[in-house]
Amino acid sequence: MTAKEDQKLFESQMELLREGYREKLEHQLSEMVKLLKNLEKSLDPLPALETLRQELHKIAGGAGIFGMPELGKKARTLEIQMKGIRERAALGKEVPVSEILAAIMALHVPESLPDKGESASSMVPEKSFGSAGDLDVEEPRLLIIDPDDKRGRELVLALRYFGYIPRHCSRLSSAASLFPHKAPQAILLSLSSSENPFSVTTLAEEIKDLFPELPPLLVLSDSLDFSTRLAVARAGGQGFFIRPLDVPKVVDRLEQLIGRREMAPYRVLIVDDEPMVAEHFCLVLRAAGMEVHREEDAARALDMLSTFRPELILMDVHMEDCSGTELAGIIRMEEEWVGIPILYLSAESKMEEQIRALNSGGDDFITKPVDDAYLVASVSAHVSRARRLSELMAKDSLTGLLKHIRIKEALEVEMSRSNRDGSTLCVVMLDLDHFKRVNDTWGHATGDRVIKALAHLLTRRLRRSDSIGRYGGEEFMAVLPGCTPEKAEILMEEIRKNLKTIEFHAKEEVFNVTCSIGIACSSLGSSPEEVLQAADQALYRAKEEGRDRICIS
Ligand code: GH3
Ligand code: MG
Ligand code: MG
Repeated sequence: MTAKEDQKLFESQMELLREGYREKLEHQLSEMVKLLKNLEKSLDPLPALETLRQELHKIAGGAGIFGMPELGKKARTLEIQMKGIRERAALGKEVPVSEILAAIMALHVPESLPDKGESASSMVPEKSFGSAGDLDVEEPRLLIIDPDDKRGRELVLALRYFGYIPRHCSRLSSAASLFPHKAPQAILLSLSSSENPFSVTTLAEEIKDLFPELPPLLVLSDSLDFSTRLAVARAGGQGFFIRPLDVPKVVDRLEQLIGRREMAPYRVLIVDDEPMVAEHFCLVLRAAGMEVHREEDAARALDMLSTFRPELILMDVHMEDCSGTELAGIIRMEEEWVGIPILYLSAESKMEEQIRALNSGGDDFITKPVDDAYLVASVSAHVSRARRLSELMAKDSLTGLLKHIRIKEALEVEMSRSNRDGSTLCVVMLDLDHFKRVNDTWGHATGDRVIKALAHLLTRRLRRSDSIGRYGGEEFMAVLPGCTPEKAEILMEEIRKNLKTIEFHAKEEVFNVTCSIGIACSSLGSSPEEVLQAADQALYRAKEEGRDRICIS
């Protein structure tokens, strides 16, 4: 969908929702009037007064969200008065029915809503990250500019081994036609030896004209002299590499700059007993590219945790059967959910109440009505930090892959899923051959680079639904859900061949490494340990039979 169509759809959904809310509001107000009229006849006014207070509370939160801030404020004032009236009524004081009636009759739904331009809800909030729709994990867009055609093509090939699909052109003028829709994610600019170092500056200017949001620029050069490096730094270069090119080193930098995988959309659970208000937040967050579920019922919201696995909960405070703070308390009792950010979203404006809510397991308090852009920014900030934290805890620092324990957990989760839906799953064990020799000959630091290169190769080649972990020092494990052994073999054969082709540079020499691979497939009902053991045995066989090969259990 184009951005324009996105905007149109968003506007029409918002319009529908606003209309629906206005209708509901009219109904709500007339029900309140009826309630008040009956109140004169009733013996115990307390339940009706409490209902009135609750209804006013809902309007106080909802009206502002749907473009009626004045009405929202009036309802808020009345809500506070109603609380006092109820308390006095409890002590036997008379209820000033006609005054309340007049005040409620004065709460009318405004005829027309503010111009769309003024309403915070009329713009699709800016996407804070790539949404599921525009993930292009398979094809990282790299541009190589190299006046030397042969050299350019060689680099294209070398980067392909890592799963990149770069495009090469010899002159910048033809780059635009290679990337007609989206700018490349990174540019590798190769300088020819005859080039004046300061031409980098001009080239960078030209690149900026073509791609205004200048993607990360890496410069490849024959000369290490200071003036060239200075020119590169001034041109905003983020990497500088000397030929002969150490491709794994370039890949390492690329991975740091453009990320190993595009981000998956943030998952947000909204718990609010006002369906229309919840739907509004749903639309706003979805328009920002997030995956959102909403739930009115606290018990069902609790169940949603394990199925939807949200990364943040947007929680209403005042709900009828179980309050937001109570639900937060229940959630925090489970170790697994101790860290999930909970943002309270409520019309509660009293500081003490907000503090109390924060003390009972919340991370932040946002008062309704809330500006859409603010909501998106706040949710994004919390989720991105939570993600970063859980990644740090789950991932190996050298390779960015899952740690030993986490990849085993991933295997368990994926096995039970595949057993449920009857699909096959493959487990791959992969170990570098004679790696001790690499360390002994080229040093430990070079060994580390080899390990990283293989990690990059695996992350680039496997799908986002696959899990990859560093099982041991130079041993890796991958879990491929929904994959047959035949497919896994083809994929791994490609990885095995690509690894062999990669040239590593050390001590002015070039060397290659190989790896051995064992593959096992889950048959229905087998346990994670059994599959893992089978893959391990297959790997052992591959080593026994001479290494640099694949064995299938
Ligand atoms: P084989 O083909 O049988 O697998 O032989 P190998 O030499 O690869 O196997 P072995 O298990 O004997 O040696 C693995 C070596 O990997 C030993 C260890 O020093 C090295 N290693 C483990 N972790 C790291 C690491 O993080 N960095 C580096 N550079 N080396 C590591
Ligand atoms: Mg080994
Ligand atoms: Mg080993």
